[in-house]
Amino acid sequence: MNDTPINWTDKTWNPIRGCDKVSPGCKHCYASTFAERFRGVPGHPFEQGFDLRLAPHKLDEPVRLRKPSMIFVNSTSDLFHEDVPESYIRQVADVMLQAARHSYQVLTKRSERMRDLLNSESFRDVAMAENVWWGVSCEDRKYGLPRIKHLRAAKVKHRFISAEPLLESLGQINLAAIEWLIVGGESGRSARPFDVAWAEDLQHHCAEQGTSFFAKQLGAKPILNGEPLMIPNAKGRRDGHAGDPNQWPEALADLRVRQSPAAVI
Ligand code: SF4
Repeated sequence: MNDTPINWTDKTWNPIRGCDKVSPGCKHCYASTFAERFRGVPGHPFEQGFDLRLAPHKLDEPVRLRKPSMIFVNSTSDLFHEDVPESYIRQVADVMLQAARHSYQVLTKRSERMRDLLNSESFRDVAMAENVWWGVSCEDRKYGLPRIKHLRAAKVKHRFISAEPLLESLGQINLAAIEWLIVGGESGRSARPFDVAWAEDLQHHCAEQGTSFFAKQLGAKPILNGEPLMIPNAKGRRDGHAGDPNQWPEALADLRVRQSPAAVI
C-alpha cells in the first residue's frame, strides 16, 4: 500500500503486477516504463519486467490499514486482465468487502470482462457494494466510448470514467448513470498534446447531465486556442506541465472545478 500524488485518491494498492498494452492510452504507460527498467535484475520486485503476475502477499494490505481511505486498486495494472484468474479477482473483492471502512476505485480498460463478471451471481455482492467504485478509461472515441457502454451495462452501485490521458474530443458523450468523470492530459517528455477545449466540452456535458467533474491536470503539452499553453511548474520553470489549477489562466476558470460525488466524501 503506497501513498500517491494522484489527487483523486489517497492510496494505491497493487495486488497484481504487470500488464499488457491494449489501446492508445497505454502507449506511454509509466508503470511499464518503470518496471522494464528492472527486467533481469536478480531479486528486484520487477525482475520479470512488466510481465503480469499475481502478488498475493499484498492482498491483506487494506485490512491492515486502519485509517479509512480512498484506495485506487491496481494503479499499475488491470484487475480484469485476461490472465488474472477469476478466483483471484474474487479474493480481491473479498478484501474490499472485508475492509469496508475504505472506499475503492477499480479502473479498467478490460471493460467487457468487468461487465461480464460483475453481472454474474458470483460478483453480485461486490458489484452493488456501497464502498466500491467501478470505472473505465476513456482516452478516445474508438476505444474509450465502447468501454462506457460496457460500464453502463454492468449492474453496479457506482460508476466513474477516467478520461486520462485524453487524446481527442469525445464529442457528444452520454453520461447517463455515470456519477463521476476525471479528466487529464498526458504527462512525460513524450506526452501527446491535450487541447483544453476537449476538457471544457466534458465539463459542460457533466454540468448538463449531473455528473461530478474533476480536472486532474492539463498534462505536459496543453493547447489553448491552437497554441501551446505555457504554465509555470512548482520550480518556476515554464514547461507547460499544469497540475495546479490556481496557475491556470482565467480563461480556464471552468476547468478549476474539482468535484467529488457525495458518496465518496
Ligand atoms: S491497461 Fe493500464 S497498466 Fe495496463 S498497460 Fe495500459 S496503461 Fe498500463
